[in-house]
Amino acid sequence: MEHWSTQGLRYLKGVGPKVEEKLHKLGLTNQRDLLFHLPLRYEDRTYVSPLGSLQPGQRAQIEVEVLQSAVNFRRQGRSRRVLVAKLADNTGVITARFFYFSARQQQMFEKGNWLRCYGELRMAQGEIEMIHPEAELIDRDKPAPLHTTLTPIYPTTEGLHQLSLKRILQQVITSLKSAGIAETLPQAWLDQNGFPDFTSAMLDLHSPQSREVSEMIAQNRHPAQHRFVVEELAAHRLALLERRRHLRSRPTPRIASDDVMQQRFLEKLPFALTGAQQRVLAELLQDFATGKPMIRLVQGDVGSGKTVVAALACLPVIGSGYQAALMAPTEILAEQHLQNFSAWLEPMGISVVGLVGADKGRKREQKMTMIASGEAQVVVGTHALFQASVEFKQLGFIIFDEQHRFGVDQRLALQKKTRNDEMPHQLIMTATPIPRTMAMSIYADLDYSQIDELPPGRKPVTTSIVSEQQRASLIARVAESCRDGGQVYWVCTLVEESEVLQCEAAEITYESLTRQLPQLSVGLVHGRMKPRDKEAVIAAFKKGDIHILVATTVIEVGVDVPNANIMILENPERLGLAQIHQLRGRVGRGARESFCILLVKNQLSEQVRNRLDIIRSTQDGFEIAEKDLKLRGAGEVLGTRQTGEMSFRIADLLRDQQWFPQAEALAKLMLQPEHREERSELLRNWIGDRQDYTDVG
Ligand code: ADP
Ligand code: MG
Repeated sequence: MEHWSTQGLRYLKGVGPKVEEKLHKLGLTNQRDLLFHLPLRYEDRTYVSPLGSLQPGQRAQIEVEVLQSAVNFRRQGRSRRVLVAKLADNTGVITARFFYFSARQQQMFEKGNWLRCYGELRMAQGEIEMIHPEAELIDRDKPAPLHTTLTPIYPTTEGLHQLSLKRILQQVITSLKSAGIAETLPQAWLDQNGFPDFTSAMLDLHSPQSREVSEMIAQNRHPAQHRFVVEELAAHRLALLERRRHLRSRPTPRIASDDVMQQRFLEKLPFALTGAQQRVLAELLQDFATGKPMIRLVQGDVGSGKTVVAALACLPVIGSGYQAALMAPTEILAEQHLQNFSAWLEPMGISVVGLVGADKGRKREQKMTMIASGEAQVVVGTHALFQASVEFKQLGFIIFDEQHRFGVDQRLALQKKTRNDEMPHQLIMTATPIPRTMAMSIYADLDYSQIDELPPGRKPVTTSIVSEQQRASLIARVAESCRDGGQVYWVCTLVEESEVLQCEAAEITYESLTRQLPQLSVGLVHGRMKPRDKEAVIAAFKKGDIHILVATTVIEVGVDVPNANIMILENPERLGLAQIHQLRGRVGRGARESFCILLVKNQLSEQVRNRLDIIRSTQDGFEIAEKDLKLRGAGEVLGTRQTGEMSFRIADLLRDQQWFPQAEALAKLMLQPEHREERSELLRNWIGDRQDYTDVG
């Protein structure tokens, strides 16, 4: 008979076609997969907190009487009805608030009912509120017994309730208890590291038997967790190494070095390369010389001069008869790269073509023909390059600028752009600094270079925090600097993640600045404008025809206008530190003394002020990134590579850094031929069918 763990989900009670579909959405296809669907966190429902003791920010369980409740109406927003209830025990009163609710919830929160609620507390208008509490009716004289261990909470998906998911999981846990499962890792390795066996480790995580165990797990101190963290990190590493091996085994364009072209390029360049740029360029040329596909990540802080290195690396590619492509994350940036590449390469007789989404009709046709015939030797563009209709004659080299915005899928799509079977060389450039140990783990498939030096003559940017009240004097100061020949970025960000609102805010600021500073020329650029209009505005700013450029965060990456010396950032509070640092990198590129002004609302919490102080006190991208990682977690800072493609079930790249060495050792062990089967098991368990790692087209 089939082992229980490989049986389909439909054998479980409570799994019909609908639920099965939801489970598939979570990446779960058989019963064993359910075991690997580990709790996200644990909630403490072992005691009841008196209302008088509650703190905002914590989660708590309370037992309360409903004093009153009402459905209020809000004017804006999508959901208009709000259920508000006053809850009390004999130590205090709080409010419960639902922005969406069912009839059942409304009934439950009727005046006079006694409830046990669990939820997160927040401060609103000076009072503590519980938002969307989970609630059950209780008998005030003899409430149901409390939990004795912490309650696991599982990641789930819309339409699959936590409790239903738990009921399904419970059946699998019962099978595991009674029938067990074969160990998946070499016993000697487990013993050596003092890690528990598979079955007991799984049981501990899903249904901790004592309060002590559940608390250790909640605090990340339990060996069961450590075992799986190491396992998962090792699995990811193996998957990445596997992908690398696969890539590197493919035939690749043979690129011959070309000192003459390089010499000609450098002679015309108005500056000399820094030591770091020279070193990294040499590494790239060395990659070409190996005859295997280059897969290299170049990290360099904002302004370190990555673009020119990329352009230099294109020379031998073109000299060898291949095409090169440069892909940028935004049209603004693509346009700027196009200008630079054209200015550098066209005088050398190299044809450079730009391709963005806005290119339509005949113009687009023409460009496509040039790309397909090989007449276009360098193609600079946005994601438009990915479109299936774009065909290259002989693509030999792809540069991804600010790659953390591109997914692997997109990278794969471009690799398929070559007609022959050759794997183009790949260079990925990013300003996002990643701590070394982490880079080794998440970029195990890439070689890594760093431009760790800024061009000479850069002046540090003086950063200050200015409050909204001082707006008028700030505008006066800006005007004065512009009359002095300087230029200003005025960046509008918004607390809410809405592009529309962000553009609106920029429009409002643009209009008021235009009105207040009639003698100056103010420009506006935002994401909802037509690409051609955006380009025209940026071009005018570059030429110095615009003094103040009001913008949204569309200018975050790469925009390079050396004469701009003041950056004003509205509402910087909600931006990540690394993002602020990126934005600030737009100034301090020329000879003028430069300023970054964080324009904040009048009241800042101490926490926010401390965060902004980090930006104020350091210019070091690495330091800022490390602190940002601590504050916001890896997913946010590193972008898609973390969140989309490399989501972890149990490991946390930041928290679990101490386990990297063990994970590396385990991965190495599993690569030995005698562990072949266990290796595929490990990959199947942790990576599953997430093809992006192994399927390289
Ligand atoms: P990033 O690494 O942020 O992409 P860029 O490539 O846009 O940086 O370079 C920033 C600016 O520095 C550009 O104006 C570029 O021309 C200039 N630059 C690059 N390398 C040097 C150098 N070695 N000396 C002086 N200026 C340089
Ligand atoms: Mg750049």
